[in-house]
Order: sequence, then C-alpha cells, then structure tokens
Amino acid sequence: MSDVVLTGDRPTGQLHLGHYFGTLANRVALQGVHPMYVLIADYQVITDRDTPGEIQRNITELLLDYLAVGLDPRQVTIFQHSAVPELNQLLLPFLSLVSVAELSRNPTVKDEIAHSSQSAVSGLMFTYPVHQAADILFCKGTLVPVGKDQLPHLEVTRLVARRFNERYGPVFPEPQAMMGASPMLRGLDGGKMSKSRGNAITLAATEDETAALIRKARTDADRLITFDEERRPEVANLLMLAGLCLGRPPQEIAEEIGDGGAVTLKRVVTDAVNDFLAPIRKRRREHGEADAREVLAEGNERARERAIATLDEVRAAMGF
Ligand code: ATP
Ligand code: MG
Repeated sequence: MSDVVLTGDRPTGQLHLGHYFGTLANRVALQGVHPMYVLIADYQVITDRDTPGEIQRNITELLLDYLAVGLDPRQVTIFQHSAVPELNQLLLPFLSLVSVAELSRNPTVKDEIAHSSQSAVSGLMFTYPVHQAADILFCKGTLVPVGKDQLPHLEVTRLVARRFNERYGPVFPEPQAMMGASPMLRGLDGGKMSKSRGNAITLAATEDETAALIRKARTDADRLITFDEERRPEVANLLMLAGLCLGRPPQEIAEEIGDGGAVTLKRVVTDAVNDFLAPIRKRRREHGEADAREVLAEGNERARERAIATLDEVRAAMGF
C-alpha cells in the first residue's frame, strides 16, 4: 500500500529554521513521490490564545513560506481547517475514543500550557491532539513529517485509529512520524525555536535582521569553540545551526573556528544561515498574495472532497 503524507502548521507567524530542518525539507523531498496534504491549522491558533489575531495575514505569510521553500501546489494539496467542516466533524466520534486521563498526561500539551499567556487553560488545549488525529486520518495519512514535539500527538492519533478500528471495523491506518535532520532545533534563547516565543530565525527575515538576531544569541566566555551539547548548549546550538545550513558536522566547524571565540562563531553562523536562505528568500519575493489565495482555494476544494468521503465511511461504520 502506498503512503499518504499529511502534515501542517499553525498560522501564528512566519516559518523558521526549526520548521525547515524539522519538517519542511522532508515535505519537499516527499512531494511528487506520495500524495501529500499540508494543513494550515487555523482552528488550532486559539488553543493557547483568546482570539485568532491577524489570521488572514498569517495565512498569507505561511503560504508564501511554502512556495518559497519549493512546495509545489500542483503536487501538494494545501488547505485550512476552517474550509473543511467534514474534517472537523471527525472530532466528535474521536473524542469518545480517548480518556480524560490520557489527554491530561500529554507532555507537549503540558509544555505549551507552561508557555501560554492565558490565565486559564481551555478545553481546546487538552483536546487539540484529538483534533490532530482528525487532521491526519481524514485523508488516511500514513506518514507524518513533523518535529519531536509532535510525537505524543502522533501516539494519540495511532490510539484513535486503533480504537476506532476495534469498535467499528477497519477504516483507518496507524500513521508513522517522520523526523527531519533536526527534530528539535533550539532558538536563540536555548529553548525550542517557536513562532510564538520570539526566539526564531524566520525564513523571510532580511540578512541584517538575521545578523542582529544571531549577534544577540547567548554564548559563553570560553574563547576555544568546542561542540559540547551537555556543557555548552548555547554554543553547540549555534554550531548545529551552521552545520545544518552548510550540510557539515558541527564538530568540524568548531575545529575550524578554534580559539576565534564567540565573535568568529557568530560570523560563521550568520554567513551560513544567510547563504542557505538566499535562494528561499529570492523565491519568496517572486510570489504575491494573489498566488497564495489561488493555491488555498484549490487546495480547500480537493481536501473537502477527501474529507466528505471519509466522513461517509465513518458514519457507515458507526451505523449512523
Ligand atoms: P507556535 O509557537 O505558534 O506553536 P511552532 O514554531 O511551534 O509555532 P507549529 O506550527 O506549532 O510551529 O509546528 C509546525 C511543525 O513544525 C510541527 O511539525 C513541529 O513539530 C515543527 N517544528 C516547530 N518548531 C520546531 C523546532 N524548533 N524544531 C523542529 N521542528 C519544529
Ligand atoms: Mg507549536
């Protein structure tokens, strides 16, 4: 049986290097090989904030990022939650398949609650991993290129698929995660690089913005640069960034810098990142808002057709 690829992002800001090395590179590699769906998870924006904010602008930016990294809308169906009601409807039966205890012990949800600016935790925060099961299973996705933070959610999806099949007969596959070159890239403050945490190098930033961000990154006082993730996590993270962008082992880059200190390290990282992002940034400028709207309109239509078929099958299996 051939694979179906599903993955996606929340429209909460511009995509960054964590996305690139965590999932976008794999998407580009898999497009054209397998059918692929890429979801703009607009309903999931309100898991950790009160309102969707500048949602239209963020959706446009996300689409431009996709086109910039080389996703081809003729080969990939790009769509949004809010345009596919049948997908969202799968959430109802799926919620009945998991226990409150299972939802409460999800480590990624716990981490996101810790970083949320909200004073109260919403029901959506606890249940969005089940919504993600609907995202993946609506198209019978089997392969999910994601970062490490998504692994607990993928376990929820597998559980939902397994329990649905046990109760109602075989409908869903149990999908597998696919990790990228860097399953958890750290941001310039040492924590997970995230759109919403102000610690990211975005794909769309200018060369000067990138240089300024890297200049501010935390390092340490030791002039001799070594790759030591345990004892020197900030330096190691910068070396890793350069290594990913140059396609070279970070240890080798550390040896070359030798006793050049943080100044040389940051210059090497800045050059590596800016050279790597140059063609992506150039392609981004070749597309505009009209392209983005057209891509989404077509994708929404294709995704909806798929979701209608799956929901029909689910209703039949459940005897509705
Ligand atoms: P937000 O802070 O708004 O949640 P985010 O940066 O976490 O934004 P998401 O839209 O939640 O981005 O995640 C989209 C995809 O990118 C997921 O597959 C996720 O695992 C992956 N991803 C996000 N950040 C990283 C990272 N730092 N390293 C590797 N993969 C990442
Ligand atoms: Mg996130």
